[in-house]
Amino acid sequence: MSLKVKWALGTALGALLIFALLTFVLFQSFTSDLLKREQSSVNRSLVSVEKRLASSDSKLTNKHVQQLIRASDGLADRTEKSNTTEGVINGLSVSDLSITVYDPSGQQIFTTAGSNKSRTFQKTSKKTVSLVKTNSRKSIVGRIPVYQNKTNKLTGYIQVTSSLRGYYQVADRLLMISMLVLVLVVIASGLLGYVLSYFLLRPIDEIHDTVSRIRDDPTDNHRVPKMHRNDELSDLGNMFNEMLDRMQRYIEQQSQFVEDVSHELRTPVAIIQGHMEMLNRWGKDDPKILSESLDASLKETKRMQDLVQEMLDLSRAEQVEINFRDEKTDVGEVVHQVYNNFKMIHPDFVFTIDDDLKEPTIAKIYRDHLEQILIILCDNAVKYSTTRKEIHLSLSRTLNNVEIGVQDFGEGISQDNMDKVFNRFYRVDKARSRKKGGNGLGLSIAKRLIEGYHGDIALESSAGYGSLFKVTLPVIKEDVQSLDD
Ligand code: ADP
Repeated sequence: MSLKVKWALGTALGALLIFALLTFVLFQSFTSDLLKREQSSVNRSLVSVEKRLASSDSKLTNKHVQQLIRASDGLADRTEKSNTTEGVINGLSVSDLSITVYDPSGQQIFTTAGSNKSRTFQKTSKKTVSLVKTNSRKSIVGRIPVYQNKTNKLTGYIQVTSSLRGYYQVADRLLMISMLVLVLVVIASGLLGYVLSYFLLRPIDEIHDTVSRIRDDPTDNHRVPKMHRNDELSDLGNMFNEMLDRMQRYIEQQSQFVEDVSHELRTPVAIIQGHMEMLNRWGKDDPKILSESLDASLKETKRMQDLVQEMLDLSRAEQVEINFRDEKTDVGEVVHQVYNNFKMIHPDFVFTIDDDLKEPTIAKIYRDHLEQILIILCDNAVKYSTTRKEIHLSLSRTLNNVEIGVQDFGEGISQDNMDKVFNRFYRVDKARSRKKGGNGLGLSIAKRLIEGYHGDIALESSAGYGSLFKVTLPVIKEDVQSLDD
């Protein structure tokens, strides 16, 4: 069963229950009120007729009773609609009420009802008004004994019966209208539910459509169409699109990576193979060729080893966020250590450091990773320096970040290449960089690491004048003490 039909049925059922309950409560309270009015009408009639008949001095006969009742009618015209008489007249005029008078022995003397309508006689010692049920229909029967005012002698009984015709008319009509409205409400709410769900759930259809197309072909560029609404489903559609983009980018990156790696490995493997073949053919006995070829092959295997290590570093750099979440490092200390090491390894270079940090500054980064980033940047600065062999390091801090600068005055990077140098295996001059031992992975490793720690790396450069790499890392506002803990 589709979600739309379920929704429609759910709303219809909900409306049915609520409306049925409401109607039941209203119906009950309305009809019980009507019944009370009928009861008090019977009561008033009883009292009124009893007063009339009790005033009579003689024995009650049909003629006598008729006179007295008519006098009662007349009285209602003359006196200012006294409450007691009004009940009799009203009751008789709508012929809901019938009055029957019996003599003390239970013989019927007088009745306003047809013979079939009058109720069976019952003796009573006091006034009673009760609800009686016959053939699934209710009626109200009131009984009262009549005592002569003067002698206080029992002269008969009065019985007033209300057939509740008006009450049943109103109740039946009410029931019919309620049923009709109930059916209409159920149909309308079901339809409304269906139409609403059709519009509200349309994005799900579109997501469903996109999912099935992507399932058939993961490289399909189909996306969930833009929804002009602002709710959870449109968020879901957008998130789903983003997820698809990311997934496809990931697939592309993976295949690109495999392609790049095999491409990178092809050259050293070809070089080693060339040397081996040469040795195999005629180099075995020539010590000069032998030593040259072995040297070259060893250089290439070293290069492959570095490449494999760098690829491993790159892949690990993707997971720093998960594996090194709580690491802390004193940035100044690491920068100074790298600065001292480089000064020692490259005595032909002039290294300077401009440290603006007044106090120990702790960044949320694993120590070895910060060191690795600095080594990559300083290595590059050394590698791509030309005549001016100067490298300038700087350390400064803003409210939330610490900024490390690595500046050289070498060949620089042109505007076109500035974004690309952070890509994997990208080298501005492939042959030259290869000669210097570069695989084009250093900057991409550095960038991944920095971004993994929610930092940023920026590059300012001008071809021929040098480059400045600026690393920004978020700092923790804690004292050094926490480092030792
Ligand atoms: P590589 O191992 O080749 O140095 P990197 O990812 O570290 O790889 O750098 C990518 C490319 O960016 C390098 O091949 C080089 O062309 C360029 N590059 C990096 N750093 C500098 C620099 N300081 N000055 C000039 N060019 C640079």
